[in-house]
Amino acid sequence: MMAKKAAAAASQMYEVSPRVARQASVRPYQRERGAPLVRPLRIYTLDPSVSARLGGVATAPVPYEKLEPGPSGSVFHVVADGVPAPLSAEALNLDDPALLMSCGLTPTPMNGRFHLQMVYAVCSITYAAFRKALGRDIAWATTPPEGAPLRLTVRPFGFRGPNAGYSREAGDLSFGYFSAGRNPAGFVMRKGLISTALSHDIIAHETTHALLDGLRSLFAMPTNIDVPAFHEGFSDLVALFLHFSYAEVVERGIRESRGATTRGSLITDLAREFGYARSRAESGAALRSGVDVEGVAGFDSDVPLSKTDRPLSYDEAGSEPHQLGTVLVSAVFEAFTTVVRRKTERLFSIAGIDPAAANRGPISDALVKAIAQEASDVAGQFLNICIRGIDYCPPADMEFGEYLRAMITADSEMEQGDKWGFREALMRSFRRRCIFPDHVQFMTEDAMRWRSPDQRMRIPGLSFCDLRFDGEPGRAADVEELNRQAHALGAFVTDPRHAKMFQLVSPGTGLPKGITYASIPAVESVRVSRRVAPDGRVLFDLVAEVTQSCTVRRDGDLFDVNGGCTLIIDPEGEVRFAISKRFDSEARRARQHAAMRGPLRKFWKKTGRQFTVQKDILRRLHGSK
Ligand SMILES: [Zn+2]
Repeated sequence: MMAKKAAAAASQMYEVSPRVARQASVRPYQRERGAPLVRPLRIYTLDPSVSARLGGVATAPVPYEKLEPGPSGSVFHVVADGVPAPLSAEALNLDDPALLMSCGLTPTPMNGRFHLQMVYAVCSITYAAFRKALGRDIAWATTPPEGAPLRLTVRPFGFRGPNAGYSREAGDLSFGYFSAGRNPAGFVMRKGLISTALSHDIIAHETTHALLDGLRSLFAMPTNIDVPAFHEGFSDLVALFLHFSYAEVVERGIRESRGATTRGSLITDLAREFGYARSRAESGAALRSGVDVEGVAGFDSDVPLSKTDRPLSYDEAGSEPHQLGTVLVSAVFEAFTTVVRRKTERLFSIAGIDPAAANRGPISDALVKAIAQEASDVAGQFLNICIRGIDYCPPADMEFGEYLRAMITADSEMEQGDKWGFREALMRSFRRRCIFPDHVQFMTEDAMRWRSPDQRMRIPGLSFCDLRFDGEPGRAADVEELNRQAHALGAFVTDPRHAKMFQLVSPGTGLPKGITYASIPAVESVRVSRRVAPDGRVLFDLVAEVTQSCTVRRDGDLFDVNGGCTLIIDPEGEVRFAISKRFDSEARRARQHAAMRGPLRKFWKKTGRQFTVQKDILRRLHGSK
């Protein structure tokens, strides 16, 4: 890995990454007394090809903030550059009284200014979902301008091409536009202009790439095939659950999809209707990974299990990131359908309907409403589970199985009982797709949870009574305080008495076999998490990452392997979990070496015998098809 610049003159035992201070560079709008809670804005819930009848248009509750024309707010700055003919657009002022009265502009692909509204609304909703799940402001991974708060630039008319991308280097989200083919779907004109900036899912997907990059910068380092696939799959999951969390959209969708298909269950039919279905024969050419809907139907017990309804498994999916991402998306989606089914069963029995026949006979309006509400609540909960899992992932070289462990641990910290079987359903659907975490002997919750350290460890200076905040705990005080916290952490974890426990190599101690150089451990982040449990309890924790990279020589080639530890620290300053990635594992080195020469070749550059990672990985991920 590139040499990191120490933000402060740290001791030689560790350094503090500039990312630590970046946490203070994003300043979302703080609501003033009397200010509105939301700014209702009309959006496409999928894209312009879906009719309003199917729930294609909705009024979304975008969190209120003060805006400048653009729209330009506290975390996103939308620019109207590069508008293609025949559209036109100048900066959009959403505070215009006429637009305030009408929930913004009417959705139409004809009006260039609506494109600005659409990206602003969906980017903001996606950001808000993360802020709500984690209880803190999320900082971008890009370098902030000198002395100014960091905002992500959003370019709805970014370039010509059927694609979209996030770039850490450029600090932007850029959306492409292109001409439809001769036989386009839905309401699109033949050869008409299609703009990816009008697709709810593409916007949410790209925003999620940026948010994930802000949370975990090493997830952009493709060291094994799961890493880029996770970036893809996770971004799809967020887009999908956001979509299902609009109750009115689900309601209209259920009404419309009923009778249209006879296979599957209510929710899988809905996924098909919303366009999430993906057949396994398809290559990874689409922008989004989709759901292996046929595989999901096999598990949903209102449909008889047949031999052919076997889901696409991890081992069969290959290494193409979108295709492999599909397996992850389908696994989590299947758990979602399972919980929805459990929760709606009683609604059917109250209505005197056999749930197995639910997608055939008529069902009342009131029942559709109740089911839609239940489904959208569960979608919101899954969205939280998915996002909160990130805090419990190791800092580098992520694997799908570890994500399962992270979600199970994070969720069981919130809610000990698992009344509706969220976690059980997740474990079952991951197992069905052959996603197995390493070193876990049983697919049971106690085996799946990360283990707490054997000995109690309290980090001086990191108990909540020592921390300073900027008014509220979700907002870091200032750069000085963040650096103080990072130093408290760095000094503790690199203390030779503890370093081994956190899988770090203390400078000055012997290097593990096969390693030619070990970098100084770096404190990457120290952040608060404030999560609200379903029973209303609020849980506070500190989430921190410490990373280290080692240079490995293998078959004459040289490359860096990243390791380190994610720490979950409770309000007393005690280490609750230390989720580490060790680099003295020969298997890991062999796997990375093989991936860099094989399926992940396009992400790496080889100069002489040295492998280095290419620039702008996340944009490359999309451009690679
Ligand atoms: Zn993507």
